[in-house]
Amino acid sequence: MKKDDSQELLVFNKEFTRQESIPSSGIERAIEIMQSGRLHRYNTTPGEISETSLLEKEFADYVERRFCAALSSCGSAIYVALKSVGVKAGDKVLCNAFTLAPVPGAIKNAEAVPIFVEINENFVTDLDDLEKKAIESNAKYFLLSHMRGHIVDMDRVMDICHRHNITLVEDCAHTMGAKWAGKHTGTFGAVGCFSTQTYKHINSGEGGLLVTDDEEIAAKAILYSGSYMMYERHISRPSLEVFERFKKVIPNFSLRMSNLVAALIRSQLPELDKNVQRWNERYNIIEEELQDVSCIYIPVRSEKEEFVGSSFQFSLIGIETEKIKHFLSVCAERGIDIKWFGEMEPKGFTSRFESWEYFTKTSKLPKTSAILNGMCDFRIPLTFNLKDCKKIAMIIKQVCRELELCD
Ligand SMILES: *Cc1c(COP(=O)(O)O)cnc(C)c1O
Repeated sequence: MKKDDSQELLVFNKEFTRQESIPSSGIERAIEIMQSGRLHRYNTTPGEISETSLLEKEFADYVERRFCAALSSCGSAIYVALKSVGVKAGDKVLCNAFTLAPVPGAIKNAEAVPIFVEINENFVTDLDDLEKKAIESNAKYFLLSHMRGHIVDMDRVMDICHRHNITLVEDCAHTMGAKWAGKHTGTFGAVGCFSTQTYKHINSGEGGLLVTDDEEIAAKAILYSGSYMMYERHISRPSLEVFERFKKVIPNFSLRMSNLVAALIRSQLPELDKNVQRWNERYNIIEEELQDVSCIYIPVRSEKEEFVGSSFQFSLIGIETEKIKHFLSVCAERGIDIKWFGEMEPKGFTSRFESWEYFTKTSKLPKTSAILNGMCDFRIPLTFNLKDCKKIAMIIKQVCRELELCD
């Protein structure tokens, strides 16, 4: 007999934080590197190209940019990117207000002043507000965070940047492997920054990759990363003459990547495009299942957006805070670990712009606040199979019905 899914109480019991194993080729290479003792990127034998340098070349080729610098994290890559494009203390940096804490952290680290921009109901930057604030503030930098993998209309972004002479830096922590109209994110702006932290699209624990086509930015980024004047050993770099110009004026921030980390990333890069497909299969199943739940709004995406569905976001619309909290706790009881951006206190990985009190000027963003109040989010690790994804969506749907959140 076929059971009605509204009667059977579904419970999920897999961990939302469990990633897949590192490919065996990566594990083997990591062991070789440990056996050699040559973990530092500049500890090479004559003529040897380090693991980290090889990775930089491979990643630059993958996204089709001229240069790549490997760093200790994406947060440090964003910081180095801001410094390398010329951001000075007190400079204004436009930034979408819906992002992760390392992004405002990088702005703070660069001693810049953020001008936060509203988002819209599809969780991307409100481009009318961007243009308005660009004019009002006269900011010359835009740090665009493709937060949770939602890619805004890049044609319009580039048009706004060109018209107002704004330098674009992209935070691609959730868009490694993603494209806009066939072009990789991170290659629209002057610089793109990627993360290989455990919960992103390639897992090396920690790690950041900075890409650019600009020779001066590349040389500065390598010097900032801490090259100990051994930048010659990089194979993804501009000519040595460019470094000559900057080597005495750019400090060493010691934010390098180690060969061990690079080995783990190198083994996963060839799998990335296949994994993008696997993520999207999972995302699509969840989306399909939740599409007809009237209290749930799933962001609409442009046809040009070739996203990576490694996490799922939706808005609970027209539901009061107490009911949302109840929904979250019932979901949690049934094994569904949902993060809620409505939470005013910073919690785990989730924080709101209102809680970044280290900036002296507070921002009022009524539209973004209202959207965050209903925004729910969960990860889709590849350790979940297609059936798991269907089950997660069915539980969410079941809880919505049970609590009578929908009509
Ligand atoms: C994870 C993340 C970062 C920072 O990455 P780390 O490598 O952890 O420093 C930046 N932006 C967004 C949107 C992120 O999710």
